[in-house]
Amino acid sequence: MEKSFICLAVTESTLDNNIKRILEYKDHIDMVELRADFLDKEELRYLDKFPGMTDIPAILTIRRKSDGGMYTSGENERCALLEKGSAGKYQFVDLEEDLENEDITARIKEKGKTIIRSFHDFNGVPHDLASRIKKSGQRPGEIPKAAVMPLCTKDLDRLLHSYKECKGIRKILLGMGTFGFPTRILASYLGSFLTYCSAPQKCAAPGHIDPVALENLYRFRNISRNTALYGIIGNPVMHTLSPAIHNRGFSQTGLDAVYIPFQVDSVKDFFPVAEFLDIKGFSVTIPHKEEVIRYLTQQDKSVEQIAACNTVLRLDPGWRGVNTDGTGFMEPLRENKRLESFNNLRATVIGAGGGAKAVVFSLVSEGVDVLILNRTVGKAEMFASPYHCAWGGLDSEGLKRMSSYSDIIVQTTKVGMEPDIQGDPVPGYRFKGHEIAYDIVYKPAMTNFLKRAEQAGCTIIQGKEMLLGQGFVQFRLFTGKEYPDKAGIKALL
Ligand code: NAP
Repeated sequence: MEKSFICLAVTESTLDNNIKRILEYKDHIDMVELRADFLDKEELRYLDKFPGMTDIPAILTIRRKSDGGMYTSGENERCALLEKGSAGKYQFVDLEEDLENEDITARIKEKGKTIIRSFHDFNGVPHDLASRIKKSGQRPGEIPKAAVMPLCTKDLDRLLHSYKECKGIRKILLGMGTFGFPTRILASYLGSFLTYCSAPQKCAAPGHIDPVALENLYRFRNISRNTALYGIIGNPVMHTLSPAIHNRGFSQTGLDAVYIPFQVDSVKDFFPVAEFLDIKGFSVTIPHKEEVIRYLTQQDKSVEQIAACNTVLRLDPGWRGVNTDGTGFMEPLRENKRLESFNNLRATVIGAGGGAKAVVFSLVSEGVDVLILNRTVGKAEMFASPYHCAWGGLDSEGLKRMSSYSDIIVQTTKVGMEPDIQGDPVPGYRFKGHEIAYDIVYKPAMTNFLKRAEQAGCTIIQGKEMLLGQGFVQFRLFTGKEYPDKAGIKALL
């Protein structure tokens, strides 16, 4: 199967600035789409000159407002511009599926251009998607293109089946938005002639990835139909650092594999997607770590003990769940030279959400005496009950007790996490300096909680340590290999 091309959509207001943008990304792209609907009116006079200003194959597009573009003047004027512009050395001209002016198609084809016959749907995945592509695919000298917006995981599943139905047709088929994001990376795997991308500060369509990330982070050039697929499911998920960890690991071990974020609104609906794509394994993040357990055919002891699952591995048939969060959380503590053993230690865990599960379980398993403090006191009590831990609220009483459970203080709430980075769940607690302060939030790396602890002389552990720790174990489960160059990825993050 042919490899897909990377096409940079340029949306500057002048041709010169578009050329500057192309030069910026030249080494990462194969072709360029001039989105002439973004050009200043004056610039439109020179549309035909644009391909001569660059040596990269070019697509001419003047996108109407109704298709997500910027062009608002009349249709006759737009057709005239397309025809005039196509006198230039464009290899492709994008014309919409519902374009009424059939003559223009013939005249542009006569100039030796290939037509990209496009349609857009920003409201979901149309039921007749495959049949429309098949119909367009029968027109000689044309490549059908559909950009559709999956609004949920089920929509993504339907979109994926359309690739199968249209197998063998040269086409451009892409999902927009966060639910469609994987299709942009998997163009070669799924069979799309190209994938579009744009500069991060000039995103031309929902879900466009920047060309450097596409090539370096998501290994676009390496992906083929034979590539092993891995991923992470979550909602939200696009902020995750896990692709950076795993894809770097695949690259350095020379594995033909890629790891992709999947925005998932229903775990149940994701499993058909995973089957369709032959996903070998995936990570699970907020809010699916508990829900995913229902769909496992096998669960490791770690999942039973923590009652949450962050790693799912393909069996033949079915799926096996593992929890690597506990190991990931403990690794930096075990490596900490200040801790010779966990015996007789007392710790406070702030928060009683999903992230706290692996933390409390791991500390209690090591014999640490734990106090759980949570904003909703009832949840702290429920959380503490099976472990026979102390519990309390995030109030003055709780903070007072915290002083006597302060060998290790673990912050597991969302407070301080991007974008609300000013937050601190325990502003009234004065660090003494003897505490090990551990924040499992990893964005930002230095939360206010950690900054205050460091200023007081405490040993601090950042959330990225846990993230990496659980990721390294996951990598071994995914690939059977040790994660290469742990120090390198640590420094990179
Ligand atoms: P979660 O299940 O939604 O739990 C949220 C916790 O935060 C609850 O205890 C909640 O208290 C508390 N909380 C929320 N807003 C608060 C506020 N304004 N004041 C005080 N407490 C508040 O979330 P999660 O899955 O545990 O994730 C929490 C954080 O940990 C996230 O930043 C996540 O990225 C991070 N995490 C990191 C790793 C890692 O590997 N480093 C692993 C897992 C999670 P209530 O019960 O009162 O609502």
